[in-house]
Amino acid sequence: MSRIIDGKAIAAQIKEELKEEVALLGKDGVTVGLAVILVGDDAASSIYVNNKKKACEYVGIRSVSYELSKDTSQEELLALIDRLNHDDTVNGILVQLPLPAHIDEETVITAISSDKDVDGFHTESAGRLLVGKKGFLPCTPAGIIQLIRRSGFTIEGKECVVIGRSNIVGKPMAVLLLRENGTVTVAHSKTENLKEVASRADILVVAVGKPKFITADYVKEGAVVIDVGIHRLEGKKLCGDVDFDDVQEKAAAITPVPGGVGPMTIAMLMANCVEAAKR
Ligand code: NAD
Repeated sequence: MSRIIDGKAIAAQIKEELKEEVALLGKDGVTVGLAVILVGDDAASSIYVNNKKKACEYVGIRSVSYELSKDTSQEELLALIDRLNHDDTVNGILVQLPLPAHIDEETVITAISSDKDVDGFHTESAGRLLVGKKGFLPCTPAGIIQLIRRSGFTIEGKECVVIGRSNIVGKPMAVLLLRENGTVTVAHSKTENLKEVASRADILVVAVGKPKFITADYVKEGAVVIDVGIHRLEGKKLCGDVDFDDVQEKAAAITPVPGGVGPMTIAMLMANCVEAAKR
């Protein structure tokens, strides 16, 4: 039976630390402000935005939300971002993805000032990460590093396999594990012998976007398994990219869904907002 990594508890611990930091900043007259932009009425996006607003409130970050209709034009959205880029009370700007099809995500993300890029999706942030300069880290992979570290596992020297190569999870995850001195392999949809590759991992990070895709035969005995996926099954139950019940016996530790990576993403967003205000 493996250990279950409690992302909710670790995220709560991080938010507690940030709350103290925000209070100290407040004593020096520094406030932390986040602008959240939601375009359209996607139900999942609304839930994510609400969770972010709640976390801000808890930590003491002032959040202002802009809930725009799905017909908002790209120009209108860019004009709002430009206004927020020049607003000194706003330290961080977050545009909830996905955006409606008529808006180009890349154009919107790069319109956000890189000094306010608390999601860490701007090409400037990605470049800084790649060359090892200080910058905003994408929240999900940064949260995973915290989950592994704070659970007492070492990354240095370990075989790390990341399944998935998206710009927001897989690629930055690989770079961050490399930064921690892991020996990193990135697997993806064209990888041959995925089972063999995945079974080499001491630390296996799964971000494939397919429910219960990873079963015990992809996992080495005693591996640490981090499940990034999130899917709503019929009957509304949530599950990840990993078949939790099947893998749990074999892994040394595993993150559950919900309550694993998800809460960490929000905690790291709060950390990026505090970092932005300190700058
Ligand atoms: P994505 O669809 O952009 O990328 C999926 C990746 O998986 C691709 O790079 C692809 O090459 C790889 N892949 C697809 N099929 C494969 C196969 N058969 N074998 C090997 N690799 C395969 O997804 P993403 O944005 O990286 O997200 C992945 C999952 O994580 C999704 O379920 C998403 O909802 C979830 N997610 C969760 C959080 C969180 O905070 N918990 C944050 C971001 C994403």
